[in-house]
Amino acid sequence: MKLCEMTAYELSAALAERRVSAVEVVKAVFERIDAWEEELRCYITLDREGALAAAREVDAERAKGAKGTKGAKEANSRPLAGIPVAVKDNLSTRGLPTTCGSRHLQHYIPPYDATVIEKIRAAGMIVIGKTNMDEFAMGSSTETSGFYPTRNPWDTARIPGGSSGGSAAAVAAGEAVLALGSDTGGSIRQPAAFCGVVGLKPTYGLVSRYGLGAYGSSFDQVGPLARDVRDTAMLLQVLAGYDPLDSTSIHREVPDYLAALGGDVRGLVVGLPQEYFSPGIDSGVRAAVLAAVKVLEEGGAIIKEVSLPHTEYALAAFYLIAPSECSSNLARFDGIRYGYRAAGAPDTVTMFCRSRAESFGPEVKRRIMLGTYALSSGYYDAYYLKAQRVRTLVKQDFDKAFAECQVLVTPTTPTTAFRLGEKINDPLAMYMTDICTIPVNMAALPAISVPCGLVGGLPVGLQLIAPVLQEELLLRTAYYYEQAAAPLSHCPKPEPKPEPKPSSEVSK
Ligand code: GLN
Repeated sequence: MKLCEMTAYELSAALAERRVSAVEVVKAVFERIDAWEEELRCYITLDREGALAAAREVDAERAKGAKGTKGAKEANSRPLAGIPVAVKDNLSTRGLPTTCGSRHLQHYIPPYDATVIEKIRAAGMIVIGKTNMDEFAMGSSTETSGFYPTRNPWDTARIPGGSSGGSAAAVAAGEAVLALGSDTGGSIRQPAAFCGVVGLKPTYGLVSRYGLGAYGSSFDQVGPLARDVRDTAMLLQVLAGYDPLDSTSIHREVPDYLAALGGDVRGLVVGLPQEYFSPGIDSGVRAAVLAAVKVLEEGGAIIKEVSLPHTEYALAAFYLIAPSECSSNLARFDGIRYGYRAAGAPDTVTMFCRSRAESFGPEVKRRIMLGTYALSSGYYDAYYLKAQRVRTLVKQDFDKAFAECQVLVTPTTPTTAFRLGEKINDPLAMYMTDICTIPVNMAALPAISVPCGLVGGLPVGLQLIAPVLQEELLLRTAYYYEQAAAPLSHCPKPEPKPEPKPSSEVSK
C-alpha cells in the first residue's frame, strides 16, 4: 500500500520503529497531490517547503531520541509526530495565507496560529496546506468558494460536500492523512459522508475556536476528519481541551479517546428518530443506514424507535440564527486593517461598502442580508427571538430522547453526493442537504459520520449522535460498527476527464 493511503495509526507505528521517515511520508503525500490535485482542487495553499522542513525536524528529533530511551518515550507522548495534516482555510496559520475561502482575504497572512494549529504543531504533525471551503463556511458543496469548487474523488462530476469539502476530499484521495474542519451546521460530517471518510463534530466547547474564522459563533466547532475511527480518536486527542483564549471553552480533563475504543455494543440502547427516516431520505441511503443498524443489533444493541418532533422546524430556525450571527461576525471585514480594500472610493463609508460589495460572493451577501433583516428592530421578536425559542424546543427533544436511549442513529445526509451545479442556483435545495446535521449543532451535541457502504458507487454516511461530552461513547460505538462492517476502499482514484482534442485532430 502507498504511504499516502495508510492510516495515521499505521504510519505512527512505522515512524516510531523508524521503518519510514517523516520526510518520506510527506513526499508521498506531495506525490499524490502532484498527480491528482489538478483534477480535485482540494487545496487553496500548499506549503511544500514548510512541510518538508517540519518533517526533517521530526526525523532529527527521532534520530536523537533513538540513541537513548527518549525515542520510545517520544513515540508514546507524540504518536502523531510526522503525520501530514490538511487544514481548513478558516483556521489561522502564522505566515501561511488564510482566506476563509473568500476573495476578501485572498492576500491575508495571519500573524498568529489558531490554538488548534499550535496543538498540532506541538504534536509534531506536519501541515501540508490549507484546504478549499465554501466562502466563510457558508455552503454545502465548496461551490461558494471564492476561488473554485473542489471535486469529489469518487466521481469528479460531483461535489465533495461542504463547507469542509477540501479537507474531506484530501483525506479520501490520499492528498492528506488527516484533516481539520469546522462544523456549524454539518460542515465536517456532511463532506465526510459524501467522500467516504470519518468526520466528528465535537461537543460545543470541547475544542478551542481561538483563531477560527467566525461564522455562527453559537454553533461553530473545530473537529477531525480521518480515514477511520481510530485515526479520528487520535486527532481529537490532540485537539480537545480547555483554552483560556476561547470564552466558550469547557474546563474539563480530556479523556483518553483511544482507550475508549474496543468493547462491544451489547445492551447499548440505540434510538432511531423516526423523523430522520422520512420519505425525504433517498431510499438507497435509508437502506444502507438500516443495514448498519442491523449490524449494531446483531452485536447486541437494543434498537428503539424515538421521536424528535421539532426536527421539521430546525432548518428554518438555523437559517435565521446562523445568518444573524454571521451578519454580526462579518462586520469586521471592512477593508480597514486587513483584507480587500476597494480602490478609489471618495470617502470612508463608500470604501466600506465597495470593499464588501466587490469581494464577498452572492451566498455570503444573501446571509448578511437575511441576518441583518432578522435582527432589525421590529422584526427581531418575530424572527430571531422565535428562532431561538425553536432552538430550545429542538434541544429539549434530544434531552427527552436521551432519557430513553444512549446513542441516536440517523443518516448523515438525505442523499449521496450531488452533481456540480445541481443546487448552486437553488439556495433552499442546498440548505436542505443539512437537514440531518443541523439539529445536532442547535443542541451543542457531539456527532460522528462513519461510512456505511456505497449506493450507486457513492459513499453513504451513518450519523451517530450522543449526549454532551460523550465523545468516548460515540467513538466506541462507531469503532464497533466499523470493525463489524466491511470497510470502504478509502482512496478512490479520480478518473481524469479526457483531454479535449486539438481541433486539427478532431477534424481528421
Ligand atoms: N451548510 C450550512 C450553511 O451553509 C452549514 C455550514 C457549516 O457547517 N459551516 O450554513
